[in-house]
Amino acid sequence: MSNWKAKVSRADWKRPSRARVKRVRDRLREMYGRPVNLPHRQPVDELVRTILSQATSDSNRDRAFAGLKARFDDWESVRDAPEEAVEAAIRPGGLSRQKAPRIQAVLKEIENLDLGWLEHADRVEAMEFLTGLPGVGRKTAACVQVFTWNRPEIPVDVHVFRIGGRLGLFRPNASFDEAHDEVLALVDPEDSYEFHMNLIRHGRTLCRPNPVCGKCSLMRMCPYGRGPGSGR
Ligand code: SF4
Repeated sequence: MSNWKAKVSRADWKRPSRARVKRVRDRLREMYGRPVNLPHRQPVDELVRTILSQATSDSNRDRAFAGLKARFDDWESVRDAPEEAVEAAIRPGGLSRQKAPRIQAVLKEIENLDLGWLEHADRVEAMEFLTGLPGVGRKTAACVQVFTWNRPEIPVDVHVFRIGGRLGLFRPNASFDEAHDEVLALVDPEDSYEFHMNLIRHGRTLCRPNPVCGKCSLMRMCPYGRGPGSGR
């Protein structure tokens, strides 16, 4: 019987082999192709866009981001504007009362509104800086690294967390931060973007909260899919 939900201590956890993770990568590639990252080198844009994406859909995020760009000339203007003006600009994306002060607080912490130095900073130093910004967690920091410069990171969002747990890529009772460390340690740097994007695609199609395991070609290597809760 599957123990995919059983609590496992760190000492007892056996990390999956890289070979197994490569097989997962290959199956996902067969299902969803091999996405290509096109880094845009606009780190502040990415940081703000990711804050806007918190707890909402991509379309709401894009509406809010477009509203900011239409209303303000540059990030300096957003930083220095009255909070109500920023809130009004992002209102179409929802949660504007929480996100407007968050965005302004982050922008105030960035010297000269320049994050270009992060591209060549040591990875740990870069992540520490980003996660030291108010309201910025590892997922947001990882998104900045991946989508701005194609640096090898795997943002662990709800899809990656759910599917990674079902596939046994990290301990069933792992925190988001532990899951982030584990997935990063398992995936070759050159595969990190592809792995991240294809897990998200899988999470939106078959491996939803109620998964469609019977149609999933990962089922034979998936502890959850082979277990009693899969509903296949
Ligand atoms: S077998 Fe089911 S739980 Fe496992 S990855 Fe596929 S859809 Fe998700």
